[in-house]
Amino acid sequence: MSVDFVSLEHSVLATWNRERTFQQSLAQRADAPRYVFYDGPPFATGLPHYGHLLTSYMKDVVPRYQTMRGFHVPRRWGWDCHGLPVELEVEKEHGLASPAASDGSAVAAFNDACRGLVLRYATEWEGVVSRLGRWVDFDDAYSTMDPEYTESVVWAFAELHRRGLVYEGQKVVAYCTRCQTPLSNFETRLDDSYRERVDLAVTVRFPLVGERASLLAWTTTPWTLPANAALAVHPALTYVRLESLDGDSVWLAEAARDRYELAVWVERERCSGAELAGRVCVPPFDYFASSVPVLAADWVSASDGTGVVHLAPAFGEEDQATCAAHGVHGENHVRDDGTLDARVGNLAGLDVLAANEPVARALAASGRLFARGNVLHEYPHCWRCDRPLVYRAVPSWYVAASRLRERLLACNAKVLWVPAELGDKRFADWLANARDWAVSRKRSWGAPVPVWRCAACTATRVVGSRAELEQLSGRAVTDWHRPAVDEHVLPCACGGEQRRVPDVLDCWFESGAMPFASLHVPFENAELFRASFPGDFVAEYVAQTRGWFYTMLVLSTALFDEPPFRNAVCHGVLLGEDGRKMSKRLRNYPDPTQLVAEHGSDALRVALLTSGVVSGADARFSAAPVRDAVRRLHLPWWNVVHLVTAYAAGDGFVPSRTPGGTSVLDRALWSEADLLRSDVEAAMADLDFARAYAKLEDFVTTLSTWYVRLAKPTLWRDKLDDEKRATYEALFGALDQLALVAAPFLPFLADAMYTALGHERSVHLEDWPKPREVDVAAVADMRRLRDVVRLARSVRENANVKHRQPLRLARVAGLPDAMLDEHRVLLETELNVKRVERFAATAQRALLLDFAKLGRRLRSQLATVKAAVDAGDYREKSDGSVEVSGVTLAADEVSWRTLSASERGTASRDGLVVSLDLALDEALVREASARELVRVVQDLRKQARLRYGEPVTLSVVGESAELAAMLEVHAPWVADQCSASHVARVPLASPLRVTTAELCGTSVTLSLAQA
Ligand SMILES: [Zn+2]
Ligand SMILES: [Zn+2]
Repeated sequence: MSVDFVSLEHSVLATWNRERTFQQSLAQRADAPRYVFYDGPPFATGLPHYGHLLTSYMKDVVPRYQTMRGFHVPRRWGWDCHGLPVELEVEKEHGLASPAASDGSAVAAFNDACRGLVLRYATEWEGVVSRLGRWVDFDDAYSTMDPEYTESVVWAFAELHRRGLVYEGQKVVAYCTRCQTPLSNFETRLDDSYRERVDLAVTVRFPLVGERASLLAWTTTPWTLPANAALAVHPALTYVRLESLDGDSVWLAEAARDRYELAVWVERERCSGAELAGRVCVPPFDYFASSVPVLAADWVSASDGTGVVHLAPAFGEEDQATCAAHGVHGENHVRDDGTLDARVGNLAGLDVLAANEPVARALAASGRLFARGNVLHEYPHCWRCDRPLVYRAVPSWYVAASRLRERLLACNAKVLWVPAELGDKRFADWLANARDWAVSRKRSWGAPVPVWRCAACTATRVVGSRAELEQLSGRAVTDWHRPAVDEHVLPCACGGEQRRVPDVLDCWFESGAMPFASLHVPFENAELFRASFPGDFVAEYVAQTRGWFYTMLVLSTALFDEPPFRNAVCHGVLLGEDGRKMSKRLRNYPDPTQLVAEHGSDALRVALLTSGVVSGADARFSAAPVRDAVRRLHLPWWNVVHLVTAYAAGDGFVPSRTPGGTSVLDRALWSEADLLRSDVEAAMADLDFARAYAKLEDFVTTLSTWYVRLAKPTLWRDKLDDEKRATYEALFGALDQLALVAAPFLPFLADAMYTALGHERSVHLEDWPKPREVDVAAVADMRRLRDVVRLARSVRENANVKHRQPLRLARVAGLPDAMLDEHRVLLETELNVKRVERFAATAQRALLLDFAKLGRRLRSQLATVKAAVDAGDYREKSDGSVEVSGVTLAADEVSWRTLSASERGTASRDGLVVSLDLALDEALVREASARELVRVVQDLRKQARLRYGEPVTLSVVGESAELAAMLEVHAPWVADQCSASHVARVPLASPLRVTTAELCGTSVTLSLAQA
């Protein structure tokens, strides 16, 4: 039976589109309680990649599942529109530089270009996402640039300001000179931003004013030296003054001595850092100061450098704090674009990263350079453009996240994280140390920072709504973007004018506002918001604990004192087949579009959601598990449905869908189907996708390799009697249940199967199956019997005896007698043996002595004990000890080894032992030949496309006494099995099909003709 799962998926898609199945599934639950899932909106400036596909599948499984469980699960798509990816794209494509803050017409042109580009791949996204079978509402999509969305964002900023959680500050932050914007501290923690980099490190002399000695300071950022404003020493460290033969004299920490070649220098003086503090030095450059103070600071260490730190408050957080504490002011000589400004003489115009060498040369020329070298360190890079970041004081607006730490932790504690460790430990640690969040950007494309300031008196006003702005400025708000928003000028109480500060908001602030901004809260939808906040479910990759998860949590906590969501799944990063990052250039991963085109989306869904990546680990990805999914799930499932429905059609049987079979098989199958339901429910309660898929696969395997096999003899019967009816009911019941439970996980396949089983409605419009009474004993019996069959199979495999070869005897230990009696016939058939007996299993283990222990204790007696054990002359006691020739061996002085199958024709597991008598005689060999003959003829019938039971004439021709002997006994049985009247021994006149086969040690010609 060949089946094309890809075209099957296309026809299911067509049905969904035609019948608007998704919309129906929403409409029929319109009044049900809501299950809310938040979709992290993607940028549509690029096409979807594997990470998007993975989250798309998670974001489809959960809503489908919760819908079937009885919830209304709206699924609204969103687009992320602002932020640097868009701007960089415009710069690249239109050659437009990011405009200067004040240039209104350039801002207008630039923003128009951004607007034109943000949704450029929207159609492609819709195409890809729909093909995956993900149900999501694109028609009602929100985008972060909508005026309503922005108004909510503006409201959030104003509300935080009103609560004293927003302030303007000059803080030193990581800054990208290429993107000309600060990065928040969590952005510098995004994956891959820290990488090794070699930088020039210099050790510089700072002559002490009025003394003939210098302090030595070490820095890996020589470009900051022109802005030197002070030196810092640790008050408790010991510093030494060393003098060279030619009278040179330098101070450094004693602990730093060994880092420099100072062997021939003589120590002249030593003191604590506290004693050095308060002295005055001459800075290396005189652009801003002619003398700088030596300050004491506890954070200084001697673990690298000289134990003396050069301070440039505009370029280091600690520098800034220490200088501010001592009232020391510093200058910032680096322009926004990363070049040094006009105040630094020859160095003006140099890019910071190119300035180190010229600075070192200038120091050498002035005699200030004491030493130079290279340093290899982990250095942060911009996650957008990959340029090394610099630390730089930037005036910015901050959200005081550090003041929310306790509440952030309390809110986070209410979230169920998968994996748990990630949220409860790593994320919680991060929150415990939450830093203030720089939320403004010196850019032009984004939601405005809604702050207006008077040029005359510096009074500021924070505006929180469209109505407020319109009322204050007397202009309609049509567009929150620049330059339109900048045209609103507000009157100031002093008689002056208030104009908007030119900054825009960090796009992370906008995405963090998604739970309320997508509903235009608080201006609309209050009721809806109450019903949808906190959200029930989010799924994104791990790094979003530093991104979207974090910013949502900060804003939700600050505004509503609630976590934004209740359940969060963090997945890892998919790596290429070679374990490296997926790279288009390296072609180290299979093209997802190609995989879907070849194997279908459900197969890719299974492969992705069962990979280790869903539990937060990074995992390699290849095409193999996609193919495997088809082999392990799709095909056996399809084959079973096909077989059962074909037989039912042949019998004219229509299932009543009220199974009531009384046989153990029927009851067990019925119960297994219910256990599947409860197992999958339990897995989903833990959001453990891989476990849910494993349960589905187990069920499919059990169904196809056990229950359907055992039902076949019943199905083959001609008459549609009660027993056959019951079997059909049980099989249809199980297959219905499988389609229902699998629906969220294999949405295409499940729907196709459900239809094939005779249902008219889509499986996705059905309710999740209700619990049923389970016959625990029947299931346990069946599982135990399956274990016996599996053990017997392993014995045959180890002994290289085909299953088709009948054997005389199987002996089974570990099954209750009653059970063995009840299922003896089933076992004889399944094990293909003439007789099944029970037996005592003790001889199946060998006693092993711990010679190291016993040698010490028993000494010469050991030989006697060993001889007795070898002879089998020992007695095992109930406490695990063993009696041998009058000696008691403790349980920890012996061990037991189960004898292998090859040793005894035996296999055992969990207290079950199966032993096969592998000895063959003539009769058994002939019977195997007869079975082999039937198998070949059945193949031939299939090739000839004969219907089941259609009568034929059969001929078997071969020169062998053994063949003749075999046919003499088995010909009637063979003929019966093959629906032939007899077995002819001469060639047929006009055969339908002819083949040859090795049988009874000879080459045999088989032919078939219609009777
Ligand atoms: Zn950058
Ligand atoms: Zn004013």
